[in-house]
Amino acid sequence: MNTIVVGAGGGGIASSLLSSIRGEDVTLFESHSALGGCASWFKRGPFVFDAGATTISGIGVHEPLGELFELLGHSPSLFPCDPGIVFHLSSGEIIKYHRDFERWMEELSTHFPHLDHRPFWSLVRSLNKKSWALLKDVKTFPFTNFSDILQVLKHPKYLSLVPYLLISTEHLLKKYGLYDREYLEFIDGILLISAQAESPFIPSLVGAMALSYPAETYAPYGGMKGLMDFFEKELLKRHVVIKKRTPVSAFREGEVTLRSGEVIRGDKVILNLPVWNMAKMSEGEVQKTLQQESQKHPGHWGALTVYFAGKLNVKELYHQVHLNLPQVKNYFVSFSIPHDEARAPLDYQCVTISTHVGAKSQVDKEELSEIILNDFKKRFPITDIKFLTTGSPKTFERYTGRESGFVGGIPFLYGKNPLSLMSAVIKKDSLYRVGDTVFPGQGLCAVVAGALGLHHRLKSFDSSL
Ligand SMILES: Cc1cc2nc3c(=O)[nH]c(=O)nc-3n(C[C@H](O)[C@H](O)[C@H](O)COP(=O)(O)OP(=O)(O)OC[C@H]3O[C@@H](n4cnc5c(N)ncnc54)[C@H](O)[C@@H]3O)c2cc1C
Repeated sequence: MNTIVVGAGGGGIASSLLSSIRGEDVTLFESHSALGGCASWFKRGPFVFDAGATTISGIGVHEPLGELFELLGHSPSLFPCDPGIVFHLSSGEIIKYHRDFERWMEELSTHFPHLDHRPFWSLVRSLNKKSWALLKDVKTFPFTNFSDILQVLKHPKYLSLVPYLLISTEHLLKKYGLYDREYLEFIDGILLISAQAESPFIPSLVGAMALSYPAETYAPYGGMKGLMDFFEKELLKRHVVIKKRTPVSAFREGEVTLRSGEVIRGDKVILNLPVWNMAKMSEGEVQKTLQQESQKHPGHWGALTVYFAGKLNVKELYHQVHLNLPQVKNYFVSFSIPHDEARAPLDYQCVTISTHVGAKSQVDKEELSEIILNDFKKRFPITDIKFLTTGSPKTFERYTGRESGFVGGIPFLYGKNPLSLMSAVIKKDSLYRVGDTVFPGQGLCAVVAGALGLHHRLKSFDSSL
């Protein structure tokens, strides 16, 4: 069985590894010179910067990266972050989201003594744990027909989760007496980075998974380059042929055409590209379907990024700063692990800052980066700033090929019909897809979950032959 995978982002890397685990001969085509896509890296002088994604999550036994590492028999070297994220509220309060539940409860009680936090956060933890277990047991998510949904009925213990799909996270906060302006600032901040929308728009079940994310963030040693080097080694060990700097310009069932004009045939093709890109690279009936899906799910977000290195000594690696300004609501700061010499010489750290911007809106890169940088310097003492660079949706479009620089995938919004999700199967037996526009929810964890879902479907197709 020959499998062609297009796009070496997290989804394509996981799909290539899983296809090789199924015993297939895999060729992975990537247009860029490095692996990773939105979770890639770049080098400037002695510094290695994360280009987009910086945090790793979902490495628990029932969670997607945990399952993938278990299948590989290896894990990359990861630094557990505690606090997972530090929130700097616009009021000046600083809240640390600790890994340990009791410490997290204490922290919330210190900042919001008038509120009863425990019932809500206990529910959030329990919904998160059950949801990952459900995704592991019920292998048909994203549901694309009723028979997929019926699989849930085989596991009645998960039926108690259904009501939480029917109410928004905002509704749940109100129910638990936590509908407080300052509280909402950091809750919406977490939801925006992990579920791509704020509390009124996110079903409370998805909200619970997103709100649990800072409880277990990890930083890869060596940054995203360290993680991608790990994956590249695993791919090569499994004889996956990696074709970098080899863009694919068109695809059909069981066939791709490279930009050079060469046609490569395989038994199956797995596309790890955003749906908006796929629509432009196909033809006939498949193209019609993909175009309809693209119109139904327009991209919302782009990213503005600021990168630099400097003399710093910050031990808490991830921060979300709330400014509540019309130009910048909040921004996310990631520091490289102190003394990680794979990324920066001693005494220096690399910094990646990102903020959401409307992908198609006019972004004044200079103005936004100046606001962010000035604010950053007040909070984090830094000297000897080096290699200051900024990125916009246009940069992401150029760097990852993503249509209009849309990032963050397609969120699972409140009120969405669970059957309206995109199927990983475009044509059974020959054409499949993964990535952050297919599996709802953004992040490496979500795209690996999508690749695992497809892997289990393909295994079940194989066993039904
Ligand atoms: C600023 C920012 C910060 C983020 N922070 C985090 C975070 O901290 N943690 C987290 O988990 N997630 C984070 N994310 C989200 C995460 O990076 C993405 O959801 C995930 O990496 C998407 O993976 P993917 O495989 O679906 O797509 P992509 O990463 O976009 O991969 C697609 C790949 O296909 C290649 N490609 C495109 N067109 C072609 C073609 N024609 N031929 C061949 N190859 C092609 C691209 O070069 C790319 O490598 C962040 C994203 C951004 C933008």
